Amino acid sequence: MAISVFDLFKVGIGPSSSHTVGPMRAARLFALRLQREGLLMRAARLRCELLGSLGATGRGHGSDRAVQLGWMGHEPDTVPLDAIPGWLQAVRDTHRLALLNERDVAFDPDHDLVLDGRRSLPFHPNAMTMAALNASGEVLLSETWYSVGGGFVVSQDVADHADRQADIAPGPDTLPLPFHSAAELLALCQKHGLSVASVMRRNEGHWRDDQATREGLQAIWQAMQACVRRGCGIDEVHQGGLPGELPGGFQVRRRAPQVRQRLLNTSDNTPDPLQHMDWVTLYALAVNEENASGGRVVTAPTNGAAGIVPAVLHHAMFHLPHATEERMEDFLLTAAAIGLLCKENASISGAEVGCQGEVGVACAMAAAGLCAIMGGTPEQVENAAEIGLEHHLGLTCDPVGGLVQIPCIERNAVGAVQSIHAARLALLGDGRHRVSLDQAILTMKQTGADMQSRYKETSLGGLAVNIVAC
Ligand code: SF4
Repeated sequence: MAISVFDLFKVGIGPSSSHTVGPMRAARLFALRLQREGLLMRAARLRCELLGSLGATGRGHGSDRAVQLGWMGHEPDTVPLDAIPGWLQAVRDTHRLALLNERDVAFDPDHDLVLDGRRSLPFHPNAMTMAALNASGEVLLSETWYSVGGGFVVSQDVADHADRQADIAPGPDTLPLPFHSAAELLALCQKHGLSVASVMRRNEGHWRDDQATREGLQAIWQAMQACVRRGCGIDEVHQGGLPGELPGGFQVRRRAPQVRQRLLNTSDNTPDPLQHMDWVTLYALAVNEENASGGRVVTAPTNGAAGIVPAVLHHAMFHLPHATEERMEDFLLTAAAIGLLCKENASISGAEVGCQGEVGVACAMAAAGLCAIMGGTPEQVENAAEIGLEHHLGLTCDPVGGLVQIPCIERNAVGAVQSIHAARLALLGDGRHRVSLDQAILTMKQTGADMQSRYKETSLGGLAVNIVAC
């Protein structure tokens, strides 16, 4: 499937792209299919099973709530966050749900929605099966969907007929400058004398004109800034838990507003040359705390790893000289090129390959974007991405309490600083290096396949079993 920059960077809802955004999109698609096939007005009850990683950590990741919102017809980028608690409480109280806001059906979240973390389906660890029943209890429609990371969803039909995928969505070869590996991307850059961002720009032309791409990138950058502002407490914060605290019962406090205040108080009179790093940390904390509270964030490439790319882009735009809109666009396009290579050749799903596929990939993307706008050649950009990914290989996903908080929030802050380090390290060289990005991506895929499932977003191993709620 051909992947656009706007498939990787999407405005969504926290706390998880695979466990919140994906299930919401799949549930809405299921409801729309009911409507398309003339079954909507015959539906009397809904059921859903969340399997594998969705079953194991779906509660903490908000998958159960996301499914209900999707059935109601809401989309992750536009659902009004403040209305959600009231809608879900009404379903809980009445055991009725407004399917696509048109058809009132029975749905009891305690009985009709089952989370089964022990059962997995072979195609992908994030599986969900939904069914609509008529008044006699007969199944009108039953569908299985997979949430494959970064908010992408795949139906069972597509999973069963990988050979037909080109009929359903165009493959990369339909793009003006197709590439399937970093080596092919570098060859294209060399052959046409283009930067990585310019190759991506040409390919984005497959979907829309250049002006529309520029406007879309500007909108993504605006959404990232708005998220940082809310997370820092500058604009009204999305309140997903107690004041100053994140939801979930682990008493994880929001730190970004205090960190910002502290930085503002000290920035004029400190000679600390590394204080820029503290600002990068702040930006990442702000995004991931907003994400953990169910706020609005941009997938980059996932929600759990959503802080790294915006933190490094804020650094580039606000702390480096010569910030321009064009540089912002080049940053995002270059980062997207790396993200799509990782998605196409391995995975960006923590449930499939662990956190190396989320924070590791985000680090590689941000490193490449920064290297590019600091004047890196395509070879140096590829090197920066490789450094960013290589040093996250083997990183497990073990979210405490099934929440996207510990280790995720701090991990983004650390990953953002590592991105800057990777970009600068690459710029110190001439682009020649021993391990290629393609080799690092292949290694991530193989390491992910070898990783036990308890380290892949099930919260059955690692930190998740050693930290308990107070
Ligand atoms: S540990 Fe990493 S992969 Fe797992 S939920 Fe957190 S950010 Fe995502």
